[in-house]
Amino acid sequence: MARVSYPYPYEAKVSQTLFDRASLVTPGGVNSPVRAFRAVGGTPRFMVSGTGPYLTDADGREYVDLVCSWGPMILGHAHPAVVEAIQAAVARGTSFGTPGEGEVALAEEITARIEPVEQVRLVSSGTEATMSAIRLARGFTGRAKVVKFAGCYHGHVDALLAAAGSGLATFALPDTPGVTGAQAGDTIVLPYNDLEAVRAAFAAHPGEIACVITEAAPGNMGVVTPAEGFNQGLADLCRDNGALYISDEVMTGFRTSRAGWYGVDGVRPDLMTFGKVMGGGFPAAAFGGRADVMAHLAPAGPVYQAGTLSGNPVATTAGLAQLRLLDDAAYAAVDAVSERIQGLVTDALAKEGVAHRVQTASNMFSVFFTADPVRNYDEAKQQESFRFNAFFHSMLSQGVYLPPSAFESWFVSTAHDDAAVERIAAALPAAARAAAQAAPEASA
Ligand code: PLP
Repeated sequence: MARVSYPYPYEAKVSQTLFDRASLVTPGGVNSPVRAFRAVGGTPRFMVSGTGPYLTDADGREYVDLVCSWGPMILGHAHPAVVEAIQAAVARGTSFGTPGEGEVALAEEITARIEPVEQVRLVSSGTEATMSAIRLARGFTGRAKVVKFAGCYHGHVDALLAAAGSGLATFALPDTPGVTGAQAGDTIVLPYNDLEAVRAAFAAHPGEIACVITEAAPGNMGVVTPAEGFNQGLADLCRDNGALYISDEVMTGFRTSRAGWYGVDGVRPDLMTFGKVMGGGFPAAAFGGRADVMAHLAPAGPVYQAGTLSGNPVATTAGLAQLRLLDDAAYAAVDAVSERIQGLVTDALAKEGVAHRVQTASNMFSVFFTADPVRNYDEAKQQESFRFNAFFHSMLSQGVYLPPSAFESWFVSTAHDDAAVERIAAALPAAARAAAQAAPEASA
């Protein structure tokens, strides 16, 4: 893809040098594709430190961070209490490969917060959590097929790396070389927010569907709020058809409320997946749910699942330290700052006459450059993302770090104080002007 040059007066010389070095030894120069800035063009910023709501890059420039490591850093960077707990844990040793009390305490914290989670298994990434939950659902039901929704991301699980065009009960073709037809062949991809399509899939495949997996409130096509009754409809259809309802709360879990999206809509899943916030910035994730289903997991039951670093003592300490600070007041603070920033963005874009919609899932939000509501992936793709790219680079040049894609959620933290919000407010008018003036060719 051609590099896009933007007319903003900022430089990232050290980042560019690091990116050049990285590109020699790492495919595309990054360890997770979105970090490469391919959607927006320009030089990815190599960050060297983070404090509260700020990140500092290798060129010494400071940014207000509206990515928060894609969700986990809900208390901001290097929160003193979390850092202290991590330092103490590291000094006690970093991995034992045995059970430890931290795992028990973290599992207790999760089950206490989220009532449908009667038992939980800790893993190291959200991908592992969803992959394992699907295996368990298949093992429990003895069925093969999995329903997922276009635009929902559940990690890079082979069977879930399939999105389809619109249409009813489309059998998915793999989205990526390396995933075989056989691996994706039992995946049915449906349009999001379309209960009729789910009903039709169950009718077309009686007794074959093991589970429906959905993001509790999608944030991976930008934020698309589930329509009233959609999640409950999924739960009901699954129950009526002997399938399991898996709510993927890797992104929303412990972020959208103390009990994640379950705490917002109260719809009871059979299994849930978690990651991000529960790891406090370390690789920790989990899946859990009904005790009778979890009892099928090894060593209690026959469905195999394991991990050398699962329940790692440093990761569980970081996660627990973070969760213990996340009380109702903390969520109220994150919600409030999120609303403030949403309002500022809307005001700035409206002032420049830029068609847009801010969509939310409690404190998660994203800005779609379209006048129309976005209810599914097809509608998300209709937006004028070239305007986002111009907006993004203007904000970046003024020291505000947004997700480098128009199809991502923005994240805030308890550390986003007045000073951070004021910096965002100061950057918005020029960014809104850049969005207004952007032409489609600019992102070609
Ligand atoms: N599920 C959802 C909803 C996610 O947003 C993500 C990652 O962004 C994942 C699963 C995969 O998590 P990980 O990147 O930790 O493998």
